[in-house]
Amino acid sequence: MKLAVVGTGYVGLVTGACFAESGNEVWCIDKDARKVEMLEGGRLPIYEPGLLEVVARNRREGRLHFTTDLPRGIAPAQIVFIAVGTPQSADGSADLSTVWAVADALAAHANGPKIVVVKSTVPVGTNRKAAERLARAKFPLDVASNPEFLKEGAAVEDCTRPDRVVVGVRRPEVAAVLQELYAPYLRTERPFLVMSPESAEMTKYAANAMLATKISFINEMANLCERLGADVNDVRRGIGHDARIGFPFLFPGVGYGGSCFPKDIRALIHLANEVGLPAHVMEAVDRVNDRQKQVLADKIRAHYGAALGEKTLAVWGLAFKPRTDDVREAPALALVEALLAEGVRLRVHDPEATGNVRALYGDRLTYCDRPYGALEGADGLAIVTEWQEFRNPDFEVMRRLMRERVVFDGRNLYETKTPAAHGFVYHSIGRKTSRPGAEGDG
Ligand code: NAD
Repeated sequence: MKLAVVGTGYVGLVTGACFAESGNEVWCIDKDARKVEMLEGGRLPIYEPGLLEVVARNRREGRLHFTTDLPRGIAPAQIVFIAVGTPQSADGSADLSTVWAVADALAAHANGPKIVVVKSTVPVGTNRKAAERLARAKFPLDVASNPEFLKEGAAVEDCTRPDRVVVGVRRPEVAAVLQELYAPYLRTERPFLVMSPESAEMTKYAANAMLATKISFINEMANLCERLGADVNDVRRGIGHDARIGFPFLFPGVGYGGSCFPKDIRALIHLANEVGLPAHVMEAVDRVNDRQKQVLADKIRAHYGAALGEKTLAVWGLAFKPRTDDVREAPALALVEALLAEGVRLRVHDPEATGNVRALYGDRLTYCDRPYGALEGADGLAIVTEWQEFRNPDFEVMRRLMRERVVFDGRNLYETKTPAAHGFVYHSIGRKTSRPGAEGDG
């Protein structure tokens, strides 16, 4: 099939490249000339494991093209995906201005009948409004809703092996075309779920709301465990074996971030208020998360007291999660803000996200290429993102490099006794603080 994808970001680029991989010809369109130039030069504007190979292979085979020219990109396409950003507006609602700009451009430039597929995460009712705008085109344009469930860090895998594909359509013929497009990725009994556009739009918000709820739930339990002398890891094991509860997404930490959960939860709250049914659970989930982003800073303040302003701290992990360079709403940035405000000097390391953080903070931080480099002369280490390479550090090397031996672990990467056995004070989430030569002290 011939496809176009408007918006070549984390979702659009992965989607376009993966559709090209199954033999479709795809034009990826973006208004950002710098991105398009990079992609045409064989470089990626984002870090996503495995993506460079897929993009390079499909460019070489002549199936994947990049342009800033929307009329040119959509001209051959039978299906046009909209994958532009839908960030949070000042009032918490989803800002749809880019979606409308693209819909209007499609209405103006469509050169024949097409299926327009909204892949961006959008409030319920967007499909209907988009259809009204697209009705101005000279040719009939169907509008389908096809929310995306990929996870940054595993996006290529998620795109080529989705748990399910959800499409919202008004005509079954449109679903049939999309099912044919997705068929190569749904061979192993993965469902293709057809529903109304409203249900498809709501499905995406409900999925993210459920996942965010699990995170805020376990974080609240973790804070209670800490206060009450219980260990959240034991509690996690104790509840996770119950098949009704399970283990996924019940990891305590420093709160969720990224470009989706925070804004999607707030958009859902806004939507609920609009229809006069306040979303009490979601409001609590959002509040708990905001507070959780401060937990590590609170522990750091409590540890150093009045001396904090004279300290130098190392930070491992800046991306909102491992295997991505995305720092949008990252908990690490909340920590950086809090510590800079206290006058702390920060030596930061992230395997992929340093460039994006440098663009925000410039020379207010010291950027280190290696995890151990960040520790040189540090009075403590804060771990914010659970990159694989932080899981088994050499505590003896760390001990030699650091001025004071204390770790504030926002991801519970270690058994509490391990850092303590190497002479570290070890603070983590929902567990007792452990100290060298002592039992945990709560
Ligand atoms: P992004 O910011 O990485 O990418 C959006 C792209 O759209 C940018 O490259 C931007 O330059 C481009 N763009 C903006 N206006 C344009 C225009 N008028 N014409 C052409 N291009 C334009 O965003 P993203 O993370 O890929 O998210 C896109 C959508 O997918 C959002 O609605 C998001 O909520 C949703 N989503 C994201 C993820 C994720 O993990 N990032 C997962 C599922 C769903």
